[in-house]
Amino acid sequence: MRVATVLLLALLAMLCFVPVFSQEVDMENEVTEYDEEMSLEDETTEFVELDDEVEEEATLEEEETEFVEEELEVSKTNCGVYAKAKRSKIRGNGGTTYTVVKINRAHLTNPSSASLSPTASDNTITVGTACAFNTMAAAAKKSGLRLTINSGFRTLARQQYFWNCYVSKKCNGGNLAARPGTSNHGRGVALDINVASGAVYNWLAKNARKYGFIRTVPTERWHWEKRY
Ligand SMILES: [Zn+2]
Repeated sequence: MRVATVLLLALLAMLCFVPVFSQEVDMENEVTEYDEEMSLEDETTEFVELDDEVEEEATLEEEETEFVEEELEVSKTNCGVYAKAKRSKIRGNGGTTYTVVKINRAHLTNPSSASLSPTASDNTITVGTACAFNTMAAAAKKSGLRLTINSGFRTLARQQYFWNCYVSKKCNGGNLAARPGTSNHGRGVALDINVASGAVYNWLAKNARKYGFIRTVPTERWHWEKRY
């Protein structure tokens, strides 16, 4: 009888404790699940916030994005004379190295400068800007106009020269020049286009934006910059 009683008590004890034990385990699991849910919710909230930011940026940069797409298309299909032009590396603003090509003779106001060194003449152009200019020049040609470049990419030494001229007023007509390191010619996006002809200027004012070029210096009708 004693053995039976002990067994019975043991069985009762098991019946009582097992559910309690299981419940505890479940509760622990629940807590864990709840924690996980919290973490997931937190992350989801972060994603939503990020999405909002991305959307805002997308709206602001819509215009620029269009230029980038156009640029990519232009690079692939319409580089024309620049598609196979020899690339070289040259240092511009902040010591950054840019990949440039020589400006094609047909695109230079002074074709003889094509043979000069890039440190003696602004006769190079970054590849992306070259492709966009090529497309724009071809379009202008259809309207009977010839677009030519007076100044393309500039090394720091060249910009220093123009800056010194601006300060001393003894060279380059004393024209306004940006402090060395700050000119967008040293980033490969600025071109000084020959606008001696009013018809050329008017055409640019009306059409350059289509090719990603905009005027950025109010006093310089010749200075156009490629936006990427
Ligand atoms: Zn300029």
